[in-house]
Amino acid sequence: MVLAQLGGSISRALQQMSNATIIDEKVLNECLNEITRALLQSDVQFKLVRDMQTNIKKIVNLDDLAAGHNKRKIIQQAIFNELCKMLDPGKPSFTPKKGKTSVVMFVGLQGSGKTTTCTKYAYYHQKKGWKPALVCADTFRAGAFDQLKQNATKAKIPFYGSYMESDPVKIAVEGVERFKQENCDLIIVDTSGRHKQEVALFEEMRQVSEATKPDLVIFVMDSSIGQAAFDQAQAFKQSVAVGAVIVTKMDGHAKGGGALSAVAATKSPVIFIGTGEHMDEFEVFDVKPFVSRLLGMGDWSGFMDKIHEVVPMDQQPELLQKLSEGNFTLRIMYEQFQNILKMGPIGQVFSMLPGFSAELMPKGREKESQAKIKRYMTMMDSMTNEELDSSNPKLMNESRIMRIARGSGRHVREVMEMFEEYKRLAKIWSKMKGLKIPKKGDMSAL
Ligand code: GDP
Repeated sequence: MVLAQLGGSISRALQQMSNATIIDEKVLNECLNEITRALLQSDVQFKLVRDMQTNIKKIVNLDDLAAGHNKRKIIQQAIFNELCKMLDPGKPSFTPKKGKTSVVMFVGLQGSGKTTTCTKYAYYHQKKGWKPALVCADTFRAGAFDQLKQNATKAKIPFYGSYMESDPVKIAVEGVERFKQENCDLIIVDTSGRHKQEVALFEEMRQVSEATKPDLVIFVMDSSIGQAAFDQAQAFKQSVAVGAVIVTKMDGHAKGGGALSAVAATKSPVIFIGTGEHMDEFEVFDVKPFVSRLLGMGDWSGFMDKIHEVVPMDQQPELLQKLSEGNFTLRIMYEQFQNILKMGPIGQVFSMLPGFSAELMPKGREKESQAKIKRYMTMMDSMTNEELDSSNPKLMNESRIMRIARGSGRHVREVMEMFEEYKRLAKIWSKMKGLKIPKKGDMSAL
């Protein structure tokens, strides 16, 4: 089950439970069964799912919960905690420090997305002010150097490699030396892969590692293998000191949940996930915000990061103030649409909020979504200030709707559709009333 679908199934199960008038054993069981089914379809190991179910039932003893207790909240929190436990390796990864040279070596099977991920990793850090460099020590796959060179050039990241040299150890050592002299603080070494785990691959990995003494070895893994990730991660860990894992292709594969939980079970921290072929389709993986998003509760730390990243500095306090007031006017919607359009097709602030972008800007259909947003904005251009500043949808009666349609040259049906969108977003926005800026991964503000 693709991650978005998994998240959708789980949040639907929670929603159905919330809609029930009374939460009894039957309702709880239905909700848990639904979540179990979704997780199994994502290839999460049966034992992990069963343990999760048992633990939740132990925590949520409906008979013991006195009247007045918010059962929904308690159940939701228990599910949240259990999912976090399932994905938490219980051990943080080494994080390179800016300004201090770190060597990071990438390992993985051929086709896992290793070379692509090396550049994504370099690019991510470059945007945050690091001075990264790429070394291509993959002499096994024809075309590996060209691929790295092409990606690195596009991202303006210095690179090192050779068409002639066949010894990966020699290239790795020379590349690392060169970039140390050039004061790069993040030297990334891409090593060879093989189609399957084999002695030659592990031997080469060991030799490159011994020669370059990396501060961190990152194992790159394709999510489509699901729970088989457990064995693969163990095998790599036994051959070289894997300090972190990046799981790729989380955008299109059905077994992403299974892969993530299987890696966690090997006690290896997943630090990033790959969510597409492009350079910036790469996300920090942090268990709590990830689960929050999966459950449709939004990702507060991601949201705040995005606000700081993309909303102009001088507009940030005002936006946060408006959020905490919970009053969503059409003018706010207009301004946020402007922000979304400025940001381009990918990083939208509101993708971090529950319900915002999944429907408004579904992945892969950015062009249509942008056209839709522009259409909505044209309609709003035909509204009066009073209409734009009101948060009362009742103000929009039939004659006003007809006037807006006429003024903007759009169909009445489209104006109605825009109001539906407004009402949907206003509902989400209102949940943020009284918003206190939460700490990273904290759920209490939800
Ligand atoms: P390597 O052999 O491990 O170095 O793999 P590559 O970096 O050449 O990647 C293999 C293929 O997977 C390429 O077509 C990449 O564009 C693709 N790829 C890598 N990461 C992702 C990802 O996160 N999502 C998707 N959809 N494709 C990816």
